[in-house]
Amino acid sequence: MEPVKLKSALMGLPYWPLGGTKLRDEFHKVLDSETIAQSWELSAHEFGQSLIDSGPDKGLKLGDYVAKHGKEILGTNSLKYDRFPLLIKFLDNKKNLFIQVHPDDEYAFRVEHEPGKMEMYYFFEADENAYIYVGFNQDVTEEEFLNKLVAGEVLDLVNKVKVHPGDAVLVPAGTIHALCAGTFCIEIQQNSNTTYNIWNFGEKPGHRGFQIKKALDVLNYHKLENPFIQQGPIVEYDGYKIRHIVSSKYFDITRLDVTKSAKLKASKDSFIHLLCYDGSGEVVWNGGHISYQKGDSIFIPAGVLDYEINGSFVGLLSKAL
Ligand SMILES: [Zn+2]
Repeated sequence: MEPVKLKSALMGLPYWPLGGTKLRDEFHKVLDSETIAQSWELSAHEFGQSLIDSGPDKGLKLGDYVAKHGKEILGTNSLKYDRFPLLIKFLDNKKNLFIQVHPDDEYAFRVEHEPGKMEMYYFFEADENAYIYVGFNQDVTEEEFLNKLVAGEVLDLVNKVKVHPGDAVLVPAGTIHALCAGTFCIEIQQNSNTTYNIWNFGEKPGHRGFQIKKALDVLNYHKLENPFIQQGPIVEYDGYKIRHIVSSKYFDITRLDVTKSAKLKASKDSFIHLLCYDGSGEVVWNGGHISYQKGDSIFIPAGVLDYEINGSFVGLLSKAL
């Protein structure tokens, strides 16, 4: 099996009104929409699939590509799942997203017939005033939460957190949260599209876009002390440096900065998703190569053991656990 380039599924107007122009202007995304809110870079979710964009399978949906070549290309870690394990996106938020919560696997499989959703955000950059809401700032009861919600004051109970370039935030299932206007980030999550909206910074509960009853089923009412991931040290090599960000229950994420060249090893336990946030160059392996530029995604099947990134690359290297 050979590495392949991916073409992302783009979410724009009229259904995704929250986005900006950065994905088009800087990340080479093309969509017939004035703004682009999300780019689903690694997705086999039926709502918006990545397409294979190089090699003999060019044009296939990622899910069909995996079906054609067998689950072995996802690696041994993913054999326990009956569907593609991860979903990775660019998010460009020009407005606040809804205050929301996601269910865990147990609830989601039972009620929604898909996995739950743990997610994390990585910020390569952040506006001066970029912030997010994540987790309760105190232990609360369901009654206190509902009283505040009805009064339109639910934000009194939620951590408002400023984000900086290089920050990573983990949002386990059950955590109240929202990305706010001015944030641009990469989201890595379980392969799920289940969101329970709680509040939209104005409308009162009862608005048809809310799912308060299900949110009450899954909310974690404990105080969240610190949402930031304690990342590993930056390790420098000749021509590149790496920083391990997190090994969660579902994914393992590393930041990779290449200035010249990086010889890397894949393994049989997981595929690798390379997401280029900045730079350009080539991914080279025994028998082939793919060029990349800012905004590109490359899928390396499990079992492609040695590969090399030549050029400049700032981005994330993601694996399924
Ligand atoms: Zn969310």
